[in-house]
Amino acid sequence: MALTLILSALAMTMIVGVRYLVTSGLFAAWTARRFPGRLAGQGRQIRSEIAWSLASAAIYGAPAGIVAWGWQERGWTQIYSDAAAFPWWWMPASLLVYLQVHDTWFYWTHRLMHRPWWYKRMHAVHHASRPPTAWAAMSFHPWEASSGAVVIPALVFVIPIHVAVLGVVLAIMTLMGVTNHMGWEMFPRRLVHGRLGKWLITASHHELHHQKYRCNYGLYFRHWDQLCGTDRGLGEFAPARAAAGTARGAADDRRRPAAERG
Ligand SMILES: [Zn+2]
Ligand SMILES: [Zn+2]
Repeated sequence: MALTLILSALAMTMIVGVRYLVTSGLFAAWTARRFPGRLAGQGRQIRSEIAWSLASAAIYGAPAGIVAWGWQERGWTQIYSDAAAFPWWWMPASLLVYLQVHDTWFYWTHRLMHRPWWYKRMHAVHHASRPPTAWAAMSFHPWEASSGAVVIPALVFVIPIHVAVLGVVLAIMTLMGVTNHMGWEMFPRRLVHGRLGKWLITASHHELHHQKYRCNYGLYFRHWDQLCGTDRGLGEFAPARAAAGTARGAADDRRRPAAERG
């Protein structure tokens, strides 16, 4: 039993790590093609983003592996594979519920992590990316990674979800994590600045969080930010930023007290 459990945790770690490398790699390559020079001078930052992200992959992989094992070997969890087990509408509804709950958890833990004591210990790593790149998708301190890694594994014990819908949840999580950090907007202007963009978070929204810190805390949806008065709208992407500018920004950041950054 112990062996299959460990193998499952290792396999999930591998899957999460490879998924990160492939997705971030693809979008980083797309970025480099669309905006030649955008990533120039960011080699050191990118290496650090990759190192933190791979550590996070293990932190995300372990609980996922344990849950996958429990699901297969012990019948734990509310994950189902027979589509007829629940009414058809539960599939889209469960997708929304999962994203909603994850978003709520993310918003409030993220706000907490912007308080000075927490910021220094948990969240400064993520904001060391100035500006972030596609490789920053999982660039978290292990404490921050742990707070994010437990959400979906905990939810599958309480809220029934079809295995394919769970796959969609994970795909959206991966895709948005990467694209929200890549430094440009891939969605059409009409969507981002239209009615849907008032609800959904894309790169233009999260970029402003990385520029201004004390706003735009959400993950998928803007309503917590809007309700709590922390939504500052959409950010502008600076054109290819020079390495010197980035270094200066980071130095300014270190001089400012954490409370102000938070
Ligand atoms: Zn971020
Ligand atoms: Zn933050």
